[in-house]
Amino acid sequence: MNEPSAKEVTLQEVMPDLLALAWERLNRLAFNGEMRMPTIEVVPGKESSYTWNNNGSPGTIRIGAAVADGDYTQALGSSAHVLLHEMAHQYVAEVKGKYHAGDGPVFQRELQAAYERLKGVQQ
Ligand SMILES: [Zn+2]
Repeated sequence: MNEPSAKEVTLQEVMPDLLALAWERLNRLAFNGEMRMPTIEVVPGKESSYTWNNNGSPGTIRIGAAVADGDYTQALGSSAHVLLHEMAHQYVAEVKGKYHAGDGPVFQRELQAAYERLKGVQQ
């Protein structure tokens, strides 16, 4: 069979909506609801990024569609981790006012804090 399965097509199609829902939930649970909804795009390839426009807008999160390859559950889990990573970049830029392109110490501290708050929610 050369045709993509219905499951793969559906996952690709619903990715932007799923990511927006996940963003809302993670913003509330892991970042104290402090951020505004960014533009969320699904782009070809494996690379994901956050771009801060520095013009008062909450910026753009791009999630590489290739993160959704493979097993359905694994794909959703990978997407959530990638999304949280990019959200930590957004948090550092939008809330802390410190935009760093790299994954430096300020970023690492906020990402770790986000994971700690999520762990607290699960208990
Ligand atoms: Zn990063």
